[in-house]
Amino acid sequence: MRLILLGPPGAGKGTQAARIVEKFGIPQLSTGDMLRAAVKAGTPVGQKAKAVMDAGGLVSDEIVAGIIADRLEEADAKKGFILDGFPRTVAQAEALDKMLAGKGLKLNAIVELKVDEKALLARIENRARETMAAGGTVRADDNPEAFKVRLDAYRVQTAPVSAYYAGKGTLQSVDGMAAIDDVTKAINAILG
Ligand code: ADP
Repeated sequence: MRLILLGPPGAGKGTQAARIVEKFGIPQLSTGDMLRAAVKAGTPVGQKAKAVMDAGGLVSDEIVAGIIADRLEEADAKKGFILDGFPRTVAQAEALDKMLAGKGLKLNAIVELKVDEKALLARIENRARETMAAGGTVRADDNPEAFKVRLDAYRVQTAPVSAYYAGKGTLQSVDGMAAIDDVTKAINAILG
């Protein structure tokens, strides 16, 4: 199973990806998680990415495509994967097409979580509150200012990725405003 989850920040991609990981036994490849790990570890990629991530902007296509190309080479990705947070630009989608074609692989599904924009900020604020209550560290970009930049980046750079796959006839949409379990059911129905 090779799958892309698309949707705006706060759409619930991470929540649904965790459930798919469990059901299909394939890894979730989240560029956001990988970049945060690189920032934490202070790697050269992390040092380059930190400021732009904290502000809510997008890291360069070259960096994230490189991270994904390396990650796809790892043993656990051979049996399939869920891409979460990548591709986020049309250039990244084209880079992914090339990577997969080079390996003779095809995607099984591209699922977009459709969410009312007005609900997103409240979801992010809720996540920050819950993280704090649990004694965790709130993401540096989970604040209203950075969120506005993230949403703008989504509208301008990532929404065209949905159009890119829709144009190829491979995009399927799910109502991300439904209850978490219902969203899972809708995704499972698509994955078969
Ligand atoms: P969100 O919850 O907003 O979907 P992620 O955890 O996926 O956020 O990503 C957090 C940040 O990491 C992004 O705002 C961006 O700076 C960077 N990032 C993650 N994936 C990509 C990507 N594919 N291209 C460019 N930047 C990315």
